[in-house]
Amino acid sequence: MKKGSFQWMKSLNRTIILNKIRTDGPISRAQIAKETKLTPPTVSSLVSELIDKDLVIESEQGESIGGRKPTLLVINSDRFYIIGLDVGAKKIRAILIDLSGKTLDKTQTIIPKPISNEDLLSLIKRTISDLASIHETKEVIGIGVGMHGAVDVETGTSLFAPGLNLRDIPIKKALEAEYDVPVKIDNDVRAMAFGEYWFMEEKKDENIVTVNIGIGVGAGIVLNGKIFHGKYDLAGEIGHMTVDLNGNQCSCGNIGCWQTLISGPAIGEAAIKQLELNPNSHLLDMIDGEKHKIEGKTVYEAAIAGDSLCIKILEKTGEYIGIGLTNLIHILNPSKIIIGGGVANASPIILPKIKETIAQRGLTNQAKATPIYCSDLGSFGTAIGACALILGEIFEGDVSVVG
Ligand SMILES: [Zn+2]
Repeated sequence: MKKGSFQWMKSLNRTIILNKIRTDGPISRAQIAKETKLTPPTVSSLVSELIDKDLVIESEQGESIGGRKPTLLVINSDRFYIIGLDVGAKKIRAILIDLSGKTLDKTQTIIPKPISNEDLLSLIKRTISDLASIHETKEVIGIGVGMHGAVDVETGTSLFAPGLNLRDIPIKKALEAEYDVPVKIDNDVRAMAFGEYWFMEEKKDENIVTVNIGIGVGAGIVLNGKIFHGKYDLAGEIGHMTVDLNGNQCSCGNIGCWQTLISGPAIGEAAIKQLELNPNSHLLDMIDGEKHKIEGKTVYEAAIAGDSLCIKILEKTGEYIGIGLTNLIHILNPSKIIIGGGVANASPIILPKIKETIAQRGLTNQAKATPIYCSDLGSFGTAIGACALILGEIFEGDVSVVG
């Protein structure tokens, strides 16, 4: 990786022009001035700067309306690259993309446990350097990190990473010192939500929520095209919304959190309990009779194979998810909700039940019809979202808003 030969400078007008070229290019200088209400001399001088920085290039000639044909501008998409990381509880996923979002390469590294802050930072750096060294000619202009657990976005510090049992990891500081490029960090679900927003086909929906349902449950909220954190970064802790006053105890200590009904482990536990009443389930054969081996994934595999007990368990899970999402719709009224995480893999069974539940419980016809999708960004969704944190910074200025 070349070091810091490009640092973008913050300027509202430059960002406006750059984003106009990104969304509407090829576009002429005159058209940019007309549509952004900036004066032609301002546009002209800022475009010259962007061309000097290699961020923008002149492309083909446009149609002339009499007189000289205007020169059109486009983003120099494959001139600069971004690395995005997803630091989970088990592995680090890394991806290298260009400014248009095209993927060049991706890697996965298993995190050995136990691990110290220093060793995790070394592993993150090694992952970045390995990926960059395969593409040595590419100039990386930013690194985004989606970190599981609680993150201080301002300082770029991982405050608590429960999956690794680590605290206060100065990720941004360490990476900026090593690579001399801007680094942006957010929690993994929020990074994923921003990626969903950024790479949406038709970028019209500025209020979306991504709900990640895996070992834990959390939401990333994008409002007006910005990640919403809340006053103290708690916004989106939806897994700990109480839905059953007499329910099971959650890892947070409270009773009946949503997470205790819909997470992957919760699905596995429900199956273990139900097996006592349904000893003929096909599920027992799949795990050689060893009940402790049952996970959410096992239940889905048995359901797909036709096991009626497992189908019922997943349908019930879909109903619980639908109840929580109905609450979410009534609080935020997002234009769409995207479901990610391991449990989303069971979407053929759970998604119809989720939609049915929302259709029954939504307050209005619009609420009932809120579009619900499973993420199609795949297992690298958070890493792609981490790249989007940098893209958002370059093209739209700040990507975050606090409460
Ligand atoms: Zn809880």
